[in-house]
Formats: sequence, structure tokens, C-alpha cells
Amino acid sequence: MPERPVSPESALIHAGQSRALGAAAAPPLVPASAFVSWGTPDGCRSYGREGNPTWDALEEGLGTLEEAEAVAFASGQAASMALMLVLAQGRQRIVLPSDGYHGTRVLAGRLRPHGAGPVAVDLLDIAAVERELAAAPAVLWAETPTNPLLRVADLDRLGKAAAAAGAPMVVDNTVATGLLQQPLQFGAVASLYSLTKASSGHSDLVLGAVLTRDRDLLAELRRWRTSGGGIPGPFECWLALRGLRTLPLRIARQSQNALEIARHLAAHPRVRAVHYPGTEAASLAAARRQMPRGFGMLLSFELDGDAAAADAVVGASRLILPATSFGGVESTWERRARQASETAPEALIRLSAGIEPVADLIGDIDQSLRAGSAERLSGNFS
Ligand code: PLP
Repeated sequence: MPERPVSPESALIHAGQSRALGAAAAPPLVPASAFVSWGTPDGCRSYGREGNPTWDALEEGLGTLEEAEAVAFASGQAASMALMLVLAQGRQRIVLPSDGYHGTRVLAGRLRPHGAGPVAVDLLDIAAVERELAAAPAVLWAETPTNPLLRVADLDRLGKAAAAAGAPMVVDNTVATGLLQQPLQFGAVASLYSLTKASSGHSDLVLGAVLTRDRDLLAELRRWRTSGGGIPGPFECWLALRGLRTLPLRIARQSQNALEIARHLAAHPRVRAVHYPGTEAASLAAARRQMPRGFGMLLSFELDGDAAAADAVVGASRLILPATSFGGVESTWERRARQASETAPEALIRLSAGIEPVADLIGDIDQSLRAGSAERLSGNFS
């Protein structure tokens, strides 16, 4: 790394590089189950479940996003599981958002037989959050903006409430990423990332990570990763670091596209409501404060119709890819309630804006909304 302080974007671009004469300009992919070693292990790398140079390169890049240390895992869920297992020891309650990623609620629910279970709360209702904090939970597990309703919780107020109650705060920062929002600056002990999404950005891998400045938590997470075995694959790490280097460019374009699409949809006669941090009144003030560089690529909208009508619209697109997940360079959308255990409204469509020219995207949305209603009328969709 250069000695002169540089912006996070420059640090990100150069993370993991060696400046040794003859070294590869791009950090190499090192697939290895074992490394040369003998005698008593004394910190040197020996077995592939304990460490890998390609993980190290990715973790260096991730750390620059929030001036923190990173621990990469096999998926966002593997990262969440390790974090819950560390923080929930001896405690019963994991306070999490009622409208956040459904997989987090399912995961916390699976921990119930092991001692800790989920308690859902509306993160925008600070009084309700404070009531739950008074019951000494293991963790306040925040997520903002939430997936898929894109509601923005006030991280400053949540951080202060958690600190006053002596509870650690974790923030799922998957949607915004550290380029748009930095939860550790608001008192969070850890930021959780599904790297499957915008951080890697090309819809070609599944990975996760925890970012933290807490050295004890860091050591515990690494111990859980080694003993639990939820390790990241070196190839996925290599791809993720490659993707991460263009995150600043991608997220700027995607945020701009999403904002224009949200404004366009808000005026569309077939749309009942649009959810986007940069346009929705309930979220806008907090979003402007804690996401000053952009509101992200993800939005959702409720169609004036039923589930079948929303399925017809999604199926009618010619450019936007009907698919789950989000954050890739290509735009995708799905009717979110098709996922079991999702609590979103039946006709809610979640749209992830890619980097295509926005006129093409708006054109495709308009023709899908027209074609979707025509197919319904002609009985092609039941
Ligand atoms: N957090 C959020 C907000 C998500 O949307 C997801 C996945 O969709 C996850 C965590 C879990 O990540 P992964 O699918 O990489 O396990």
C-alpha cells in the first residue's frame, strides 16, 4: 500500500497487490488445500481451511471500505451464522428488523433450540427498539436499507440506543455497501455483507464477509470459520476482488439509474407505491444523512393488481432479467413474495438497476407493464 494516505477508492483498486519486481500486477489466484510446512505450526500457513493468500487479498480490499478488518465466509449466511453464534452466547434474544432479509429471520429462528431466537421489531420505531433493548438482547441486528422494502433506519439513533442499553449493534450493509454507508461510524460493532450482490457485482459467485474493528470479535470469527468450515473458495475470492475494484463506478451509475426509474414508476398509472430510499418520504431524511453519496441500486414497487399480474409483468421483460438476487451489472427483477418465508406484499416487484443506459431500462419497464396487462386480458397468464 502507498505510504501517502489515499481515498478508499484508490486503496480498493490497489489492495492485495505486490510491488516486488516481477510480481503479477493482479493478485494471483492460489487454489490450495495445503501449504509447505513442517515442525510445530507457529502461525505459518499450513492447511487450506485456516487461510489462503487469495482470501487475504480480498479481505484487504474489503477492509478499505470501512477502515476495518474483514473476515470472508462462504456466503452472507455463513457470515451471519458465525456472527450470531459469537454474539448470542448465553443470551436469548436476537432483535432484528421485521421487514429485513427473510433469510436472516429464518437463520435466527434455527438458533432457537440452541438458546437464542429472533425478536422482530420495526427499526423505524425507536421507542419499540428501546423497549426490546431493555430486555438485554444478545444483539441489535439492524439492516438498512431493508431488503425488499428499502426502508432506511436512522443508524445514529439506533447506535446511541444500543450503546445506552449495552447491546452490540450489527448492521447488514449488503444493499448500500461501505461506499454508500459506513455503519461502524455509527457505533456498530460489525458490518455484515453478502458479497454475492453489488460488492462483487457480476452475479457469478456466492460469498459473504464481516467487517469489524473489534479485535476480540475478529479473532472469534476467524476461529468459528476455521472450526465450522464455512470458508470462502479461493476462486470466488479472486472474482470478488476483481469485481470490488469497479464498485465505485458501478454503484454510482446504478444509483443514478435506480433514482430515475423510481421517479418514473411513481408517475405510472399501474403502480400503487414505489419504495426507494431516495424518493420515499419516511426514509429520505435518514437516507440523505447516512447515504450522502447515493441511494443504491435496489428499489421495489407495488403493482396495482394481484400476484399473477405482477408475475405477468416480470415475465414480459425483454432486457431486465427475471431473476432473484441483486446488485449485478445487469438489471434484474422478481416478484418478491414468490419466495417462501418472504413477508412482502403479493404484488411487490423488487428491481435491481444495472449499468445499462437508463432509457433502455425505462423503455423495457414500460413495455413490460403494457405487455403484462395485455397478456392478462388475453388469458395467457392464470
Ligand atoms: N443479507 C441480505 C440483505 C441479503 O439480501 C442476502 C441474500 O439475499 C443475505 C444477507 C445472504 O447472503 P447470501 O445469499 O450471500 O448467503
